[in-house]
Amino acid sequence: MRPSRVLFTLVLALASAGFAQGPPPEAGPFRKPDLVEIVKLDATIKLDVRYATKNNFLGKAVYSSARAFLQRQAAQALVRVNQSLRKQGFGLVVFDGYRPWSVTKVFWEATPEDKKIFVADPSKGSRHNRGCAVDLSLFDLKTGVPVRMPSEYDEMTERAHINYECAPPEAKRLRDLLRSAMAAEGFSVYEPEWWHYDYQDWKDYPIMNVKFSRIRV
Ligand SMILES: [Zn+2]
Repeated sequence: MRPSRVLFTLVLALASAGFAQGPPPEAGPFRKPDLVEIVKLDATIKLDVRYATKNNFLGKAVYSSARAFLQRQAAQALVRVNQSLRKQGFGLVVFDGYRPWSVTKVFWEATPEDKKIFVADPSKGSRHNRGCAVDLSLFDLKTGVPVRMPSEYDEMTERAHINYECAPPEAKRLRDLLRSAMAAEGFSVYEPEWWHYDYQDWKDYPIMNVKFSRIRV
């Protein structure tokens, strides 16, 4: 290959590698991100951040610490959901909130084609990347134990669908209780996953790729 051709090929390779390694460009305008740590607004919300452990679909930790963040308005709405559920004997247990874009890319690459509905395409970004999506369930206030839902968290099966009917009645009741409490504060469920909710203003925030350790709260 001629030297000029080598250089051209190298520039092309670097450009495409650079594109693949960063979030997709977005036009905006966006609100200024204001991530807050959920438990700092309400310490009664429990955390079970599986991505900081090996207990997740990847079998390895992808977060350096078990923390969960959301944009402030979404976090404040989540606190109100938790308060309303307390009257019915339940609390929220959060599995995940803001997720850096680089982690979404890891998920996408690790997921087989037939399960891609359960993960976000990094070329589009995820609402978790915008700090406006939360994965969560309920726990019983009396026992502190998470309730039984129609499927496990991150279970990539039809049981995870919000309309899955062939589950025990109590599991369906609690799944639907969570949905109505979340909907009352502006969160809508992602139908294939009963645990995933998007906050109504998600379009107003940009895709972010900031590690937890660099978030100032
Ligand atoms: Zn999710």
